[in-house]
Amino acid sequence: MGIRTGREYRESLRDGRTIYVNGERIKDVTTYPPFQGTIETVAGLYDLQHDPAHRSLLTYPSPTTGEPVSLSFLLAETIEEVERRRRAEEFRAEATFGLMGRLPDFMNALVTDAAAAHAFLGQHESRFGQNVVRYYEQCREHDWCLTHTLVDPQIDRSKGPAEQTDPEAALHFVRDTARGIMVRGARMLSTLAPFSNELWVGPFYPRKRGEEPYTLCFAVPMDTPGLKFICREAYDSGRSAFDRPLSSRFDEEDALAVFDDVLVPWERVFINGDIEASNYMLGRAPGYTLLQAVIRGTVKLRFMAGLACHVAEAIGRTTAPHVQAQLGEVVANVELANGLIQASAQEVAASRRDSLRALAATLWVFIPQAQMRAAEVIRQLSGSGLIMTPTEQDFRNPEIAPYLEKYLQGKELDARARVQLFKLAWDMLGEQFGSRQLQYEWFYAGDPLFTRARFYHSPSVAQYKSMVDRLLQGKAL
Ligand SMILES: Cc1cc2nc3c(=O)[nH]c(=O)nc-3n(C[C@H](O)[C@H](O)[C@H](O)COP(=O)(O)OP(=O)(O)OC[C@H]3O[C@@H](n4cnc5c(N)ncnc54)[C@H](O)[C@@H]3O)c2cc1C
Repeated sequence: MGIRTGREYRESLRDGRTIYVNGERIKDVTTYPPFQGTIETVAGLYDLQHDPAHRSLLTYPSPTTGEPVSLSFLLAETIEEVERRRRAEEFRAEATFGLMGRLPDFMNALVTDAAAAHAFLGQHESRFGQNVVRYYEQCREHDWCLTHTLVDPQIDRSKGPAEQTDPEAALHFVRDTARGIMVRGARMLSTLAPFSNELWVGPFYPRKRGEEPYTLCFAVPMDTPGLKFICREAYDSGRSAFDRPLSSRFDEEDALAVFDDVLVPWERVFINGDIEASNYMLGRAPGYTLLQAVIRGTVKLRFMAGLACHVAEAIGRTTAPHVQAQLGEVVANVELANGLIQASAQEVAASRRDSLRALAATLWVFIPQAQMRAAEVIRQLSGSGLIMTPTEQDFRNPEIAPYLEKYLQGKELDARARVQLFKLAWDMLGEQFGSRQLQYEWFYAGDPLFTRARFYHSPSVAQYKSMVDRLLQGKAL
């Protein structure tokens, strides 16, 4: 119990879970070659907690045992405690370059948020509030890695789950049993599924009356009977770290979660048909999840800004004013996001939930946009360099290596280093890994276009309009 080592984490994945990739049942994810890079990356994060150089940054004493546990479970209340969370989360996001959206930190923060909202969850049935607190404590003490799945299958979005041609498709309650509730159906997606110990099923889109059977929140171990994960194709195709610097280490995977009559024990049920709890649960929480998401998204923006500058410098393009302006725009976006981290930390510490919600919405709009823009700038500044990237094997072939060394040099950069840099940029934007990253960030919190539209209805609009009215009426203040 307490913080795990990387080896213990790896061993914990050998649990008989049902995982399919490319039509094949993967009996042991720890030996499936395309998963090894990511398992290594996550295991490395667990090991960091034991490193004397980082232990005080990444852990705190368990309130129940006094042993070190991950700081991402800290129920932070003061600004100092929230700052501790921020520093630990920023450190782990930096260690993974912001490229893993579902670092264990994310779900640790969500479970901590849910535990902090336990009174609201248990307002109709107190046992559900108690269950979520107990579950949070288990996650903290066992140092589990969690995945989550929130969204109904994308069959016909013009209708709710109960109105679909097949109302059994979306995950739903089937019946009560003495030991728990039986559930059936599917949810999509579940990122990090093959690399997790537990699955959290939670609310996302608001539920309405009549959708009680679909209104669920619970958690189950990955090897629960009847639980199956059908993964998308893995992006690590066994190429070297030179050829695929990101796909080979950071592919989090995504899976369709199928519940083939899964029994959820009563002590693992947090919401069962309570629409109010489902729709407002996270709004009652301190906002640790939001803070983690902002930090991780900002760290990735920093990485993308660095990449854009490197690419332009590698081909000697930074003297052009329009190139400097494009790079400056990307850097300015990072500075704005850095400021938003500070603001989020302060709002969390002050428990200002309304302004936190507004801030969250701003971030769901701004961060995906800023990442899309950074990607566009990298593409535009790269030209053909993004494409003409021979492989490591090409550099090993003496018949062609001298040509590559001569013709693919950069400005003050040898050919190998220049190609390596552009390969990184292509993995970030063009390969399967990079394309998925863009899709992931855009839909991180639902479509940001809809979040944007909601701003038109925010109370501040009246204030902004009244300024114009004041001018038209010739009034000062
Ligand atoms: C790579 C990736 C990883 C993901 N990982 C996870 C995960 O780990 N866990 C998890 O729970 N979820 C995950 N998701 C799912 C994510 O939460 C959803 O993609 C997101 O909420 C959008 O839902 P959707 O995909 O069903 O798209 P939809 O909501 O169906 O949107 C599709 C299109 O419909 C449009 N649209 C029309 N009307 C509306 C409306 N009223 N509201 C909103 N949009 C509308 C949208 O603008 C959009 O263009 C992941 C998604 C991706 C792409």
